Amino acid sequence: MTPPRAQARALFRAETSFEAVVVGAGRSGRSAAALLAGRGARVRLVDDRARDGLEPGPDGRPVALFRQEVIDAAELVVLSPGVPRVRRELSRAALEDRLVGEVELASWCIDIPLLGITGTNGKSTTTALAGEMLRASGKRPFVGGNFGTPLSELARQPGDADVGVVELSSYQLESIVDASFQVGVWLNIQPDHLDRYSDLEAYARAKARLHERVPSAGTVIANAADPVVARWTEKLSSTAKKRWFGRDLGAGQAGTRIEEQHLRYEGRTIEVSAPGLLGPHNLENAAAALEAATSLGATLDGVQTVLSSFAGLPHRLQLVHEAGGVRWYDDSKATNVASAITAVLAMPASTLLIAGGKDKGGAWGPLVEACRGRVTRVLSIGEAAPIVGKAFAGVVPVQECKTLERAIAWARAEARQGQCVLLAPACASFDQFRSYVDRGERFARLAREEWVER
Ligand code: ADP
Repeated sequence: MTPPRAQARALFRAETSFEAVVVGAGRSGRSAAALLAGRGARVRLVDDRARDGLEPGPDGRPVALFRQEVIDAAELVVLSPGVPRVRRELSRAALEDRLVGEVELASWCIDIPLLGITGTNGKSTTTALAGEMLRASGKRPFVGGNFGTPLSELARQPGDADVGVVELSSYQLESIVDASFQVGVWLNIQPDHLDRYSDLEAYARAKARLHERVPSAGTVIANAADPVVARWTEKLSSTAKKRWFGRDLGAGQAGTRIEEQHLRYEGRTIEVSAPGLLGPHNLENAAAALEAATSLGATLDGVQTVLSSFAGLPHRLQLVHEAGGVRWYDDSKATNVASAITAVLAMPASTLLIAGGKDKGGAWGPLVEACRGRVTRVLSIGEAAPIVGKAFAGVVPVQECKTLERAIAWARAEARQGQCVLLAPACASFDQFRSYVDRGERFARLAREEWVER
């Protein structure tokens, strides 16, 4: 018997009417709903926040509450990446194979090659870099996924692009079944989202789904220096071509070598000098993007142009203000300990670090070590203040500021010429801000203000 997912897929491709539910009325969910509706499905949008006066679904019907009965009535259930698969209301749909993710749905009507990019940190930067490299080489890339435009938008306008560069979170990868990626990049894996996964191995398993979905004619690209990524990639059963990047490539690991401030690729040297690529971690992102883009037809001239000019993405180690010899960096996107470490290590001078927010459960010890001798004071904010205070005790002095405003006032009073003030919170933002964007924008605005009350 054909499984319900395959039946729904056939109906979807044939543009025949069927009952679909999309769980989560955010950007990806709405895009998936519009895609389904455009292909003749009757779509219900559901969300826990349905009572909050959300905009109606594509057919004008109000968003419904996320309830078992609504899910049970659907032939296909499409999940937004923000909604955990383990929700009780979804278990029957998952068992009956009626549950797919938004990326999976979108992939059903995309025929151009897809490049998938995943990892704990660096996804957005690498996605943007690879997209730019392809564009600089004369291609017409779609760039989106977890970051920016949902993949369902590409599915709705397939004629606009000749290659899709797709950032993928572990949540999106969990709900992929048949989707296939011509090229898969796995940047790294570090403790994150441990509130949603039982342990690092379970998190790695979700990430590894990307490489498993690369066909034998495709290419998997992996970080040779990350032991977990390397182990999962080595044991991959697929016969896809394997390419690596890193400072030390083992015998038999073909790929791009990182050397000081440049990359070595197939006997050529490519300089990384762009203002938006500060710090050693960005050399890894650059190397991964080079491998990915060239495997899809980018030229080395196109690659070099981007690696000399890329301006960087907002809130990722962005220089937002400079006054009195003090530089202010916004790395609000450093929402976990590992990314905050990379930010601290990329700082050119002694630093005042603003950290804290909603803790994600990772160990703080490695960040404390990275700060030793580099960070002169930690200014703590948000809910995690007690955790931050305890972690840094005896190593770096901590000032509990509670709010970003007070932390900035402290920083302004204390920072001396040649120092940097770095917002790299190592925490999520939701305790005090709408998002990391909101937090970063507020930081930049306050940093530029003449005076903030302490
Ligand atoms: P993601 O989309 O995976 O969150 P981003 O490119 O948005 O990644 O970068 C998020 C943060 O992670 C940055 O602000 C930076 O501090 C850190 N970061 C970026 N690239 C890397 C990397 N390759 N390894 C470790 N940390 C990184």
